[in-house]
Amino acid sequence: MDEKSAITIGPVTAEPGQVARGYLDIGEAATGPVQIPLVIINGEHGGPTLCFTGGVHATEYASIAAVMRLTNEIHPADLHGRIIAVPVVSMHMFAARMPFVSPLDGVNLNKIAPGGDGSISSILARALFDRVIAKAQYHIDFHAGDFGEMLLAFAGYSLTGNNELDRQGEALARVFTPQVFCIAPQGTGLPPSPGFVANAAAYRGIVSILAEAGGNGTLDEADVTVHVEGARNVMRYLGMIKGEPQISGPQILATDWHNTRATRSGLLWLKVAVGDRVKAGQEVGEIWDIFGRSVEKVHAEKDGLAMLVWNHKAVNTGDPIVRCWSIAPAPPFPETDRFLAALS
Ligand SMILES: [Zn+2]
Repeated sequence: MDEKSAITIGPVTAEPGQVARGYLDIGEAATGPVQIPLVIINGEHGGPTLCFTGGVHATEYASIAAVMRLTNEIHPADLHGRIIAVPVVSMHMFAARMPFVSPLDGVNLNKIAPGGDGSISSILARALFDRVIAKAQYHIDFHAGDFGEMLLAFAGYSLTGNNELDRQGEALARVFTPQVFCIAPQGTGLPPSPGFVANAAAYRGIVSILAEAGGNGTLDEADVTVHVEGARNVMRYLGMIKGEPQISGPQILATDWHNTRATRSGLLWLKVAVGDRVKAGQEVGEIWDIFGRSVEKVHAEKDGLAMLVWNHKAVNTGDPIVRCWSIAPAPPFPETDRFLAALS
């Protein structure tokens, strides 16, 4: 446990027992400063430091709302340790309602972490790492499906080969997720992949998970709740707030993934929904050409769980229609299995 002490990031300082809000300047755009908004909640009791980042993709609204809500619901009197929260990392994406990439340089912040000396997104990523996330031992990067993406909630962690770090990362993913999680070996393409904020943080020795719920530009209470309850479970697991984590039932581990894609183009009739158990050969979509004639029935190549379904109603050759994860019952993990509702 850390000793109680003040914490300062740029112009924002919170003494033990205080909440501080402000902005960290990291550079300039033509219209003014590029800033990272910060909330620091410094608990009255000693404990670890946990960082929340929302709005790395700033049209993933459920995840942003969750960080906002958490920062207003966590009070220093109840907190063991410290929360460093960034409600929206990319303020320019947020203002422009721009999915995936920054309007300033067209770069996807979640492909270039931990940043460097490149364009403004690279500088933003580096400041986020060196000045914000690096202050924490634990980190949650909050996301959702972006515009055009509907997804099933999950949590993910990147294996680093450091056994203790990896054990804690798996524990955080398991207590966060409502059911499905992935523990990603390098090179599998399961998230968080290299370049993701959560991946780069883990490789810096920070126990960092990717948290996903919501999507397609929506802001639904149910998705916000998944994020808030997941984060609260993580805080309970770390002893930062009272109570034990609650895991509602048996968990599901992702082992692989594949996309099923259109080979023709036209109007897409989706025949699959997020959360469906898809069978190999099952029809997942039908494509009509521009004259309304059926030109393709798209069939799933393999069995899997539909984790990501694209909402586009017009497709081109090669566009993905559904991303399925190969899944298995999660192997025993005593560290968090003791919180399974069925056992308590
Ligand atoms: Zn995202």
